[in-house]
Amino acid sequence: MYSDKKIPKLVVFDLDYTLWPFWVDTHVTPPFVKRNSSIIDSHGKKVSSYPEVSKVLESFSRLGCDLALASRTGEIDGANQLVSLFGWEHFFKYKEIYPGSKIKHFQNFKRKANIKFEEMLFFDDEYRNIRDVSKLMVVCVLVDNGMTLEVMEHGLKQFSASHHSTCEFSLSL
Ligand SMILES: [Mg+2]
Repeated sequence: MYSDKKIPKLVVFDLDYTLWPFWVDTHVTPPFVKRNSSIIDSHGKKVSSYPEVSKVLESFSRLGCDLALASRTGEIDGANQLVSLFGWEHFFKYKEIYPGSKIKHFQNFKRKANIKFEEMLFFDDEYRNIRDVSKLMVVCVLVDNGMTLEVMEHGLKQFSASHHSTCEFSLSL
């Protein structure tokens, strides 16, 4: 489907309100456990991701993109635990999970992956992160209601458009 389009080498996702609908440091209480097929926190509250996330990660992987996580949460252990319990661990080549500006997270991706910022596509629900990371020339997509296949499609189009003449495309931001 994207054979004539430019594909990102690295696709980076935020966690809170991008892959799951809560703040892992506030709305749920680690540690988490898997009981039957559900994941629950230490208060017995059921914890779910946005429903299409696994399909999105699988689809980006099939396109040949490397995947990464960039989160500013202070709940580092809980975030890593959920990534593992949701069965996503094998998708992510790089994980930068710690507080601070996401510019630092992306500088680490650039160094570790040895690619240009222009080769990266980033999904995040917070405008301040999009604003910071956009300055690096990473292609950024603001996520409104969690990661979906439709948002993925939009991101791929935006990435492709950003690598063609701007005369051919009108960027909708
Ligand atoms: Mg977020």
